[in-house]
Amino acid sequence: MMNYDLALIGLGASNSLLLLDLHERGLLQDLNVLILESQSKWKNDKTYCFWGHHQDPIFNSLRPLLLKEWTKLDFNGEVEQMRHMRYGMLESITLYEHTKELVLQYPSINLVRASLTSFKSEAEGVAVYSDNTKWMAQRVYDSRPPQIKEPTGPLVLQSFTGWRVKTDWPNWDPSKLVLMDFNIPQNGFTQFMYVLPINPHEALVEVTRFGSEVLPDELATTHLKSYLLGLEGPYDVVHEEQGVIPMTQHALQQHPDARIISMGARGAVIKPTTGYGFKYMYDRAKELVGELEQQTVARKHQFWNWPRTGIGRHYFYDHLLLHILKYKPQWGKEIFTKLFTNRTHEGIFGFLDEKSTLRWELGMFAGLPIMKFLWAVAASFFAFLRTRPARWAPMAMVLTAMGLEATLPQYAQPISLGILVFMLFLIGIPHGALDGYGHANGMRLPKFILRYSAIMAIVLLFWAASPIVGLLAFILYSAWHFGETDMREWGLPSAILSVAWGTILFVLLLLPHMSEVNLVLSTMGIPEVVISEGALVTTNRVAAAIGIVGSLWFASVPWLISIATLLLLGEQSLAIAFGTYFILQHSASGWDHLKKAHQWSHLQMFMRALPFTIGAIALFLVIFQFDRNSLSQWSSYFLVFLSALSLPHIYFMSRLYQKQD
Ligand SMILES: Cc1cc2nc3c(=O)[nH]c(=O)nc-3n(C[C@H](O)[C@H](O)[C@H](O)COP(=O)(O)OP(=O)(O)OC[C@H]3O[C@@H](n4cnc5c(N)ncnc54)[C@H](O)[C@@H]3O)c2cc1C
Repeated sequence: MMNYDLALIGLGASNSLLLLDLHERGLLQDLNVLILESQSKWKNDKTYCFWGHHQDPIFNSLRPLLLKEWTKLDFNGEVEQMRHMRYGMLESITLYEHTKELVLQYPSINLVRASLTSFKSEAEGVAVYSDNTKWMAQRVYDSRPPQIKEPTGPLVLQSFTGWRVKTDWPNWDPSKLVLMDFNIPQNGFTQFMYVLPINPHEALVEVTRFGSEVLPDELATTHLKSYLLGLEGPYDVVHEEQGVIPMTQHALQQHPDARIISMGARGAVIKPTTGYGFKYMYDRAKELVGELEQQTVARKHQFWNWPRTGIGRHYFYDHLLLHILKYKPQWGKEIFTKLFTNRTHEGIFGFLDEKSTLRWELGMFAGLPIMKFLWAVAASFFAFLRTRPARWAPMAMVLTAMGLEATLPQYAQPISLGILVFMLFLIGIPHGALDGYGHANGMRLPKFILRYSAIMAIVLLFWAASPIVGLLAFILYSAWHFGETDMREWGLPSAILSVAWGTILFVLLLLPHMSEVNLVLSTMGIPEVVISEGALVTTNRVAAAIGIVGSLWFASVPWLISIATLLLLGEQSLAIAFGTYFILQHSASGWDHLKKAHQWSHLQMFMRALPFTIGAIALFLVIFQFDRNSLSQWSSYFLVFLSALSLPHIYFMSRLYQKQD
């Protein structure tokens, strides 16, 4: 079987641009390329528009294919002659035909009309399957549309209908295009018109809606007809284009195998708040061909490296605008109108390309309805918290414990512990038990049990050698595991950060409770840890300060909330502090990671873990029955048992995370 150098899945915009760049750099002579495309692609199904500096390479390389290029822009009635920027328009059929000519030019390209069904990562390459046929390729560029799962609320859609209109009378100034004319009824959404004149007698006139409901056909027709009422003479509709573009920050679909690269919409190159992606695809194609020339495969997660700082400010602006379009789409008209009236069109293009300066952006926000954006900040913050219990449950628990102390001091401790014990059996123990199902992904059950027991035996040996060694090892690997789970949860998969955060959180959990920690140590025969009060306070403050700086540096809100929670937990008992963190943050995150990795429902997870949970309850009752009088003695046995159980759990969870890299 032929092992291709490259396989392109889909030959739409992104992969056509990739092929063009490979051709322009003279690389296609030496490469065997497989292309799988499920459609015939002889339709003019899209009109690609984009803007850029007139010296940008996209204009030089695509100019012969462009249908039209403009320098004058009308943004909602404000006309501007742009000095440096250009707005270009390309019909998809022109691109498809050009790409097909390339395909015919190179005998080493095999274009197959077939639909990809699956991939399989193999040592000698990626196996690409379509029904019963299998091909092999060294690198795959996958442009199938993404399956989007919006974490909160409905998905915002950009839906549009465009008519290519021809008139006998000259009706348009072909040097000027109209972008976002809001002088149409809004129907409770954000709705506007585009007019892209090709010559005085012909233009593409488009009605667009931003909102969670698609613009219905009849309404689109009504808007287009009434917009065209002002034309001189009759008109003919010579072509119709319709489309729906998801406006989301959650389009990215990465394959665990770094040799399979997501392209176009699947690679999240479409700007969520505009729906434009063509120019970014062009730039991305250049980047990828550059990597190919240098024979490098981009690493998706720099596990050992310092991760990128968190979300950028443009991501945050997009997030706010999307929240408004999701829940208050009727506000769009005012926001966009004010935006375009206050700033130059070239400046706005720079902003949309995420190249604006902070100063420019502050000036822009000063002209916008700021209360609406403040609402979006608050509302999206609460929506963000709500999506994952690990983001709010620990804080809710500590506030509940504090409230109980203030109102029912004598019952506060038992009620808080009761809640935590209930949650321990609901998700704490089950989350630990479910790693066992990892064996289904490759390891046979006996081998899995053997490995699990061997790791537990190593831990028991530590404790047998010396309780100090056992305890230290337990603290070290738990710190690593808690740090790793939190960092994964916060989108910062880095070993360095995991270790640093694990250490900080153990300091914040244990140091404020040194007397209780010493009590547990003494029952285990471990000498007391003596630290002066001053040193305890200073260490605690330094750890909190480092944690806060880290959370701000990586712009991570859940990280910041976690530090605030840990600081409040310092005032609670050790059991409540540790239980709250362990169950409501750590186990809740681990539960969520397992749920996603295995695509289980909550009920399926709970039922699968039930035998282990029942076993744990039985063990708890048996031990308690034997040693009813000494809770502290019992808790030291329990700690040893827990530490033995934890290490294999950590090992199998780490393997699960690494598989996802
Ligand atoms: C109507 C419309 C107009 C748009 N206009 C603009 C614009 O003006 N400017 C702009 O910047 N962006 C625009 N966009 C957004 C975006 O740029 C386009 O959607 C662009 O085509 C996305 O490129 P892509 O390569 O990700 O996907 P596509 O161009 O859709 O290509 C994907 C290809 O994969 C094929 N395929 C799918 N499944 C399989 C399978 N299982 N096996 C094999 N092949 C498969 C499809 O047939 C298709 O040819 C528009 C989108 C739409 C829908």
